[in-house]
Amino acid sequence: MSEGKQYRNDKKEVRNKNGQGSKVRPALKERTKKTWKDNQCRIADRCGGCMGQEQSYEEHLMQKQKLVEELIGPFCPIEPIIGMEEPYHYRNKVHAVFSHDKNGNPVCGVYEEGSHKVVPVEKCLIEDKKASAIILSIRDLLKSFKIKTFSEDSDYGLLRHVLVRTGHQSGEIMVVLVLSSLIMPSKNNFVKALRKIHPEITTVIINENYKSTSMVLGEKEQVIYGKGFIEDTLCGKKFRISSKSFYQINPIQTEKLYEKAISYAGLSGKETILDAYCGIGTIGIIASDNAKKVISVELNPTAVRDAISNVKRNGIQNIDFYTKDAGEFMVQFAESTPDRIDVVFMDPPRSGSDEAFLSALVKLSPAKVVYISCNPRTMERDLTYLTENGYRAVKGVGCDMFPWTGHVESIVLLTRINTVK
Ligand code: SAH
Repeated sequence: MSEGKQYRNDKKEVRNKNGQGSKVRPALKERTKKTWKDNQCRIADRCGGCMGQEQSYEEHLMQKQKLVEELIGPFCPIEPIIGMEEPYHYRNKVHAVFSHDKNGNPVCGVYEEGSHKVVPVEKCLIEDKKASAIILSIRDLLKSFKIKTFSEDSDYGLLRHVLVRTGHQSGEIMVVLVLSSLIMPSKNNFVKALRKIHPEITTVIINENYKSTSMVLGEKEQVIYGKGFIEDTLCGKKFRISSKSFYQINPIQTEKLYEKAISYAGLSGKETILDAYCGIGTIGIIASDNAKKVISVELNPTAVRDAISNVKRNGIQNIDFYTKDAGEFMVQFAESTPDRIDVVFMDPPRSGSDEAFLSALVKLSPAKVVYISCNPRTMERDLTYLTENGYRAVKGVGCDMFPWTGHVESIVLLTRINTVK
């Protein structure tokens, strides 16, 4: 996000020929003596994934509080941002791109900002430590298995990306090897060797992506070890998560986010709830104990498959799922059903909601709307629409789901102004 840039460290790192970055400028050298906890990252400038490393976490949080107040504050009072106690190594989903250096040695890391050059990553301040270690082990195994990394210039080679997902409470770990072809020689022995180093890996998937695209995952997948998904627990409910389903990347903050959002709804147990943009069904499933009925809608069929299995996993009887564009679903629902929806939870992607959804929402006129957003700018736009069309924003709060990045999650409670339908 662009607002992150101005806070990033402007010192350049000088790297030696081993890529270890030991010859550094005096000022940086002084600072590299500190631990990661003291806000150090030697590749921050080139990676571009983080910001504010020279700030204290307090200052970083205040920056985000200010942003939420600027954008959402004009609509309603903003409570103090919900921060993390240990704002490090929170990312449960870690992605590494694989390439090779000019000597043909495999490297893995992130694309340098604005380019397709790979910046090697040995340690990352925000990634799950086990996931980072697994990625490095994969890199180190490649030579002995004669697996070549893919070259975008020549279209030659096999391994393009590795994606690791970890279950925070379950400890389960999924490894996805993104390959240019599903034909992977010695795949079983590769898994055996990898699991010998990391027995904590519970499933391994190969995914085929031969296209030149910014999408990491391709369509076709094959499970080569384990059950093909991981499970995790959030707010006391169990969730199955597949490689292609959305799952919040900071499990500690997700529990705080969901608890706050559900408390904003002030449920009595008699309400019919709509969980729009529901992913694998998390919010609706967690809220279902305090609701009469839950209706959930999501566009991604893989996520809905997970969601349906999650309902069974938790023995829940009062949820229905629909695989549909949330806007289209709302329009049809508003036209065809006399059912009253009391509370809508909406948690759209960064681009926010759309007019079809918002206008149908106004037509359905639930008493309460709890809007959860990972982008306060699109939230501001959508709040403008809703507050001009019969809703009042009552209160809002930021939640730091993504420490050391420019992103901030927010929740706003809206109530219908005219309480008589
Ligand atoms: N509430 C869930 C998911 C939030 S992310 C959670 O907390 O985990 C946003 C979700 O919206 C993703 O699962 C994405 O697949 C889904 N989505 C994106 N566009 C959509 C659309 N037009 N209609 C319905 N769902 C959509």
